[in-house]
Amino acid sequence: MSPHITSKLPNVGTTIFTVMSGLANQHNAINLGQGFPDYQMNEELMNMVSEVMQKGWNQYVPMQGYMPLRESIAEKIESLYQTRINADTQITITPGGTYAIYTALTSILQPGDEVIIFEPGYDSYIPNVEINGAVPVLIDLRFPEYKIDWTGVRKKISRKTKVIMLNSPHNPTGAVLSEEDIRQLKDIVKDTGIFIVSDEVYEHLIFDGIPHQSILRYPELLERSFVCFSFGKTYNCTGWKLGYCISSPSSMTEFRKVHQFNCFCCHTPSQVALAEFLKNKDAYLSLNGIMQEKRDYFIELMGSTKFDLLNSSGSYFICAKYNRISDEADKDFAIRVTKEHGVATIPVSVFYKAGTDNKVIRFCFSKKKETLETAVERLIKI
Ligand code: PMP
Ligand code: GLN
Repeated sequence: MSPHITSKLPNVGTTIFTVMSGLANQHNAINLGQGFPDYQMNEELMNMVSEVMQKGWNQYVPMQGYMPLRESIAEKIESLYQTRINADTQITITPGGTYAIYTALTSILQPGDEVIIFEPGYDSYIPNVEINGAVPVLIDLRFPEYKIDWTGVRKKISRKTKVIMLNSPHNPTGAVLSEEDIRQLKDIVKDTGIFIVSDEVYEHLIFDGIPHQSILRYPELLERSFVCFSFGKTYNCTGWKLGYCISSPSSMTEFRKVHQFNCFCCHTPSQVALAEFLKNKDAYLSLNGIMQEKRDYFIELMGSTKFDLLNSSGSYFICAKYNRISDEADKDFAIRVTKEHGVATIPVSVFYKAGTDNKVIRFCFSKKKETLETAVERLIKI
């Protein structure tokens, strides 16, 4: 008898990002699908990493992360959100935001627990819940604004609800949470045992002067939350896979129990360099403006196409309806546009477990001007 794995994730295939990037390469298409910048990251930060490597920072740091980096993060949080975080007990450096979310959910969940997930939603959340034997409870965001229907949330809360997953700025839609959303959230979770896992990897990609409603601003929410971040998004280096998680000290103790036997500690030279680089406020505060300019330029260019863009207030992404072009299913349409017109995008139905198809595709605009221009020249012809 040969060994056999009973899959823990029987319904999971290869992620759409891998599929569409593969298709883009195969057909020499411009890749506005998977979310990553096609321009160089900050040169000073690259040089700093290389210098600290030369100086010998190449061995393990503590499991929780390099302490001066955690201290710099705590200072940044205090200046941005006026909340004091204990660098020793409340921050853990992780290999990326996805890992932080997975570790948070794994720390919290027991089989049978329910997790409220809004759809469309980032593709890792549901498998992260299911691999822990817990149950995703899915709620559609209100199309086409992609706002949370809090009355709907109240109806889905049960004695088994253990976590509400949040993501603002939101992938794939670019929607952001408002103060009213936070008020509703506070009201729903007070006097319950519900945790919040808040995916804030796009914290520095929010436009039009809208303040980022970080859970870190609200101590009464933070005490029941795991808040997850990614340096990849903040410093245009998605391939670094470095991030961090913030929670209460008692929750962080459990998080670290999972983390220490999975990853133990993250890449040392990047942490040592970031500990210094994080003190440069301008490097992260300027990002909103830079990315907003890209969004606005893309919107202007797309005005000459038959796509109808939806609103994007944050993230790298903007969604578009294509009903003036085709009534194909969004997956078929996205694949055809990649193959025949040389522009790769992401069909939004993949962010719904049931494959709900509102005939919308997602564009990533964190690209060089020339890339956006060439892509739109092609899209105009459709
Ligand atoms: N959450 C969301 C919503 C994302 O879009 C991404 C990234 N692409 C992540 C988490 C993951 O970040 P990282 O690459 O640091 O794991
Ligand atoms: N977050 C990126 C996106 O949504 C992709 C990350 C990944 O490939 N896993 O496009």
